Amino acid sequence: MKVLNLINGVLSPASSNKWLDLTNPSLGKVYGQLPRSGSDEVELSVSAASSAFKSWAATPVGERAACMSRLADLVQKNADMLAEAESRDNGKPISLAATVDIPRAEKNLRFYASAIQHFASESHLMEGVALNYTLRKPLGVVACISPWNLPLYLFTWKIAPALVSGNCVVAKPSEITPVTAYLLSTWVKEAGFPDGVFNIIHGLGSEVGDALVRHPKISAVSFTGGTTTGAHIASVTAPKFKKLSLELGGKNAAIIFSDCDFNDALSTTLLSSFANQGQICLCGSRILVEKSIYPRFRDALVAKAKKMKVGDPMDPSTKMGAVVSSDHRDKILASIELAKSEGGKILCGGGTTSPEGLPHLENGYYIQPTIIEGLSPNCRVNQEEIFGPVVTIQPFENEEEALEMANNSVYGLAATVWTNDLKRAHRVSSELETGIVWVNCWLIRDLRTPFGGVKSSGVGREGGFEALQFFTEPQNVCIKL
Ligand code: NDP
Repeated sequence: MKVLNLINGVLSPASSNKWLDLTNPSLGKVYGQLPRSGSDEVELSVSAASSAFKSWAATPVGERAACMSRLADLVQKNADMLAEAESRDNGKPISLAATVDIPRAEKNLRFYASAIQHFASESHLMEGVALNYTLRKPLGVVACISPWNLPLYLFTWKIAPALVSGNCVVAKPSEITPVTAYLLSTWVKEAGFPDGVFNIIHGLGSEVGDALVRHPKISAVSFTGGTTTGAHIASVTAPKFKKLSLELGGKNAAIIFSDCDFNDALSTTLLSSFANQGQICLCGSRILVEKSIYPRFRDALVAKAKKMKVGDPMDPSTKMGAVVSSDHRDKILASIELAKSEGGKILCGGGTTSPEGLPHLENGYYIQPTIIEGLSPNCRVNQEEIFGPVVTIQPFENEEEALEMANNSVYGLAATVWTNDLKRAHRVSSELETGIVWVNCWLIRDLRTPFGGVKSSGVGREGGFEALQFFTEPQNVCIKL
């Protein structure tokens, strides 16, 4: 497998002919290569995008939307192949890639093909004096940088609103999982995008990613990834007054009150803890349970987690696959060791494993679902993002304490609240310092709603018209009457 860059409509390797290895995490084996691009590729793609901008920005909205719809059709047509590629590249169960990642990538493209046709600007009439109307102009050449956990899903969530609103894009997927973005790049021409409008370059974040965000002709950066990387990008782009959208890490709380529907809370909390091997920014990693049901809930959750078996990601019945890389596996294992040193008791899991009876997978990166109890809310394991199949569980006395514990975090992405008391659900939700709250559910997503976090979880919102607003600059025109 050889991944290539898409620059000005041409699929090509890096001019240096340097390559990076692609690893299949389920096997722990190299299975291909991607270009190790650098500032030459940034220069070429930004220059192609700049040249294409005027004409793309002037292209009627309906035509831009049609290109996006055709790209969605191609994703739909190739959905099985994309799901297999995503599972191989990332280690996630193919059932998840086939039912969540790829259908959602297609939906992202379709949603923005439609949304741009309903996106209107405002006018303000000053009776007898003047008429103000606000133009929404595309920004120019924008950078879209996405992470490895939901590769095509998060990649399309950025490039779709950027392109339909008239910008030219230089996108950089994570070097750890570049394959589905590469496959998408092979259909860009067929979808009808003019050369230079949509460029995809591959390589290391610290090299090509850094050169991209620093490029003087990049007017905006839409980034999803870790908080440390986000802070670095903000530090180099903010002094240049580039527009910035940052979707960063989380340490989400699941708050379970005693009046909840116990079985619903239990099965959904299992999912929100371990889906995608816990590598979703929205996973609940701190489970807070009201004292009166704490022992019962803890024991039931541990029993369910113990029954979860890691399996071959390519097996359609597998619910838990491999974590994304050996480095990430080691980082997760170090967090489990830290938990022990901080006084945590490992209730289940706590180490590596491999799918039973499949010796060819024994070098893959598999971690057991792990639940830890007995840690203080302030300890590092309860404060730092782990981003793996590792959660902590803690009892709380009352609503006030639950809120104090949930908000005791530098992060503020999402939270779940489990209660049948509607007034309490509203009260608690409005007191939570997060961008998203789910009540009696998790991960239900309406693409029209604002998506993003507060505090160290990010700046700005994606989703719906928010993304179209981000990727356009308002200009007010005032006409004297
Ligand atoms: P990273 O921050 O390591 O990387 C994210 C992207 O940024 C990758 O494409 C990476 O490239 C690139 N990158 C790295 N360094 C730079 C740089 N100096 N300049 C420009 N680009 C750079 O995050 P991960 O890929 O490890 O993703 C996991 C993180 O993403 C978690 O913290 C998770 O919480 C967060 N996340 C947040 C979401 C949200 O919506 N809030 C959603 C999903 C994930 P490369 O991989 O090639 O180094």
